[in-house]
Amino acid sequence: MIEGYRCAIVTGGGTGIGRGVVQALVNAGAKCVITGRRQEPLAAVARELGPDSVSTVTADITEPEDRSRVVAHAVETFGRLDILVNNAGITAVAPILDYSLEDWRRVMATHVEGSFFLSQLALEHMARQRYGRIVNIGSVYGSLGLNNDYYGDRLPWGLDGRGPVREVAYSAAKGAVLQLTRELATAVGRWNITVNTVTPGIIPVASNPMADEVLDRLAKMTPLGRVGTTADIGAAVAFLASDAAGYITGAELRVDGGWSIW
Ligand code: NDP
Repeated sequence: MIEGYRCAIVTGGGTGIGRGVVQALVNAGAKCVITGRRQEPLAAVARELGPDSVSTVTADITEPEDRSRVVAHAVETFGRLDILVNNAGITAVAPILDYSLEDWRRVMATHVEGSFFLSQLALEHMARQRYGRIVNIGSVYGSLGLNNDYYGDRLPWGLDGRGPVREVAYSAAKGAVLQLTRELATAVGRWNITVNTVTPGIIPVASNPMADEVLDRLAKMTPLGRVGTTADIGAAVAFLASDAAGYITGAELRVDGGWSIW
């Protein structure tokens, strides 16, 4: 049992799902360091939830020096590091025949390299404490093929041109995140550190606006009959980051309203 509060790092904590995660962790009594490349969204969350609970650090998690700065900031600000939520993410969509090396590397660097090497830095502290919780944010498209028909004009099939518009690097990266979770969980279990994946389904966020008809269709295709919220994901992450989840590791918790069982 940890005395006092826990300290978390949430990457991409200024917007969307990351913001929902920060809210849930703060509600559970944690202090959060939140990162992102833009300061303004981070500052808005800190203003809203209070500077005693949330500290911001502008950083690009694909940059090794930035990753070190984030972890150092957490330890300096809150005196410890118990929880890491690897949430920051981007995608790149392009016709399959035109998918670029640059997009591939950028997406992989954000999800895979960023998550592992930030975890490695956090583990230095967690291993000494013999306590830690790492939660990686996956995606249903790390395990399932995406059907272009579901998404309307945004992801056309384009079979007479350069082929279907796909998120190919994103899918590959999220698949890698799942296996990274299992690998890390195996490696660090003896230090009393757990590593799990929370896999969101369809969660509307400002950075990925979808037409009402697309959202309606996605809701109807979900067994629970609605798309998800950032609070749905925050609740699951807060559980896996809690003391109560101490015997859960290497798991994937799908928070998708049942999307992936149909
Ligand atoms: P957002 O675009 O709102 O969140 C992405 C966050 O990541 C932003 O705050 C962004 O901040 C930050 N970020 C991106 N690149 C970097 C970087 N190099 N360094 C630091 N921060 C970075 O979208 P979501 O909330 O939807 O995405 C959050 C996670 O959830 C992602 O991993 C995404 O793949 C996953 N997900 C989302 C789903 C959904 O339906 N919304 C479904 C399944 C998974 P900034 O731009 O300022 O750097």
